[in-house]
Amino acid sequence: MKQFDYIVVGSGIAGLTFALKVARHGRVAIVTKKNLSEANTQYAQGGIAAVTKPTDSIELHVADTLRAGAGLCREEVVQTIVEEGPDRVQELIDLGMDFTREETISTDGERFYSLGKEGGHSKRRVLHTKDATGREIMRALLAALERAPNVSVFEDHFAIDLITTAKLGDEKENRCVGAYVLDRNTGKVETFSAPHVVLATGGSGKVYLYTTNPDIATGDGVAMAYRAGVTIANMEFTQFHPTCLYHPQAKSYLVSEALRGEGAVLKDLAGNEFMAAAHPLADLAPRDIVARTIDSEMKRSGAGNMHLDITHKSAPFIMDRFPNIYRKCLEFGIDITKQAIPVVPAAHYQCGGVKTDVDGCTELPGLYAVGEVASTGLHGANRLASNSLLEGLVCAHRAAQCVINEPQPDIEVSMPLWQSGQAEDPDELVVVSHNWDEVRRCMWDYVSIVRTRKRLLRGQSRIENLREEIRQYYWDFKVTADLLELRNIAQVAELIIGCALQRPESRGLHYNLDCPGLDETWAHRDTIMQRESGPGVVAGNA
Ligand SMILES: Cc1cc2nc3c(=O)[nH]c(=O)nc-3n(C[C@H](O)[C@H](O)[C@H](O)COP(=O)(O)OP(=O)(O)OC[C@H]3O[C@@H](n4cnc5c(N)ncnc54)[C@H](O)[C@@H]3O)c2cc1C
Repeated sequence: MKQFDYIVVGSGIAGLTFALKVARHGRVAIVTKKNLSEANTQYAQGGIAAVTKPTDSIELHVADTLRAGAGLCREEVVQTIVEEGPDRVQELIDLGMDFTREETISTDGERFYSLGKEGGHSKRRVLHTKDATGREIMRALLAALERAPNVSVFEDHFAIDLITTAKLGDEKENRCVGAYVLDRNTGKVETFSAPHVVLATGGSGKVYLYTTNPDIATGDGVAMAYRAGVTIANMEFTQFHPTCLYHPQAKSYLVSEALRGEGAVLKDLAGNEFMAAAHPLADLAPRDIVARTIDSEMKRSGAGNMHLDITHKSAPFIMDRFPNIYRKCLEFGIDITKQAIPVVPAAHYQCGGVKTDVDGCTELPGLYAVGEVASTGLHGANRLASNSLLEGLVCAHRAAQCVINEPQPDIEVSMPLWQSGQAEDPDELVVVSHNWDEVRRCMWDYVSIVRTRKRLLRGQSRIENLREEIRQYYWDFKVTADLLELRNIAQVAELIIGCALQRPESRGLHYNLDCPGLDETWAHRDTIMQRESGPGVVAGNA
């Protein structure tokens, strides 16, 4: 058994920030299922929203966030995160983060940070490193990690399930005391124990057929927490990014909203602009409106994609402001200085998740959730662009302060080792790959941008059947990362549908043709999914 003071599952902005902050206070294990830098964070392009200029204000950032969240944000959480944002961003800068600065020098000799503008923001406030902000964040955090004491890194280690005292049959207060973790290189399942376990596992874009997310985004943290009996909230609110590159060879490549911030316009295949007719903010309308308008233009015209056009800007400007998008598109034969970019909407961000307070505390003592995996109440029914990196930074800091200040609980439990029992090596891996595709296609066809009750129910019964098949496979065969991820995306699919069926209205990202308006009685109500977690379920798939 591996014993630590803190287990951090995930190595994106949230996990690394937490780990760096607690490293001087105890032994930290970072468990991450691929290599350290493979995280959604690495792929973030647009930047981090924070108030850094006198022409902007906390009040305006709060108001923009609340407006996007469509009546479902927790105002005090929004206030805290927005207020603390600038200090946390400064800490990143102190760690060596290199944000892009303006070309011009102000009268008092300062070169301000260059601030991007994205949909739903009333001011330019998005700090960025050209169009590769996430890569620079990861570089800065990983460099700091190399200098940090007490941290053990477990790459290629996949957290399977949480260990709770209730599951171990302990009569005392139920709390999280560790996790079972698959070492992908040896195929062995190890027991990790700690009084504080932090889920920083990111989102669940891979539940859908089309997504901007990398392969790691399979909703593992939400699925693990749910299996441990922790409340999951607001999973119906998946944000679909309006503009993912549409090309047969391009896998999950996002074309940042910052392009529209700099003047790019959406057009149909005949070259007609269509966003001005849909919303007063036209191409800079909130993402849900843009994604839905593209979806309905595609359905109306039968086209497989729409176009995003920035060719009216000068080539040097485009190449300097968006060097990575320019290069990436060129790899696929698209010169964005001369041609419009083919785009489709794709699953992008999970607004709901494990229910926590603003300090990342879940209702299960010893378990914390920070970053995209958590539902703090910041995003409500729709995330304001570039607020997610901000949430990861602020909430990871607050969770760290919380555990540092808390007296170390005394945990005296004996943890059984994982048992594989009669489980055999998997015989027909085609079952796993087939079910992967089926879950994702089912979610895309029945539970994506525009929903109906009938489609949701159809999706629910398909997912139920698939879950039964996956459960059987899980018990019979030794676990592999692919099988564990399949089990998790199917679990998360069930939670998304369950939440979507509970909400009898259309709000923010959840749009249901059967009830297209707002129901004010649901203005401040979260949808909730919770499973009973009783004693007696011991580890393993025996
Ligand atoms: C293409 C793209 C562009 C984006 N652009 C922006 C932007 O400009 N601004 C913004 O604010 N947000 C943006 N986002 C969203 C933002 O990047 C994410 O919300 C944020 O990075 C999430 O950080 P995180 O630390 O919570 O999770 P992640 O960065 O996703 O990290 C999750 C970590 O958990 C690990 N993990 C998951 N499951 C397990 C398991 N079972 N066992 C072990 N390890 C596990 C993963 O391997 C990974 O290390 C973008 C997202 C994408 C995909």
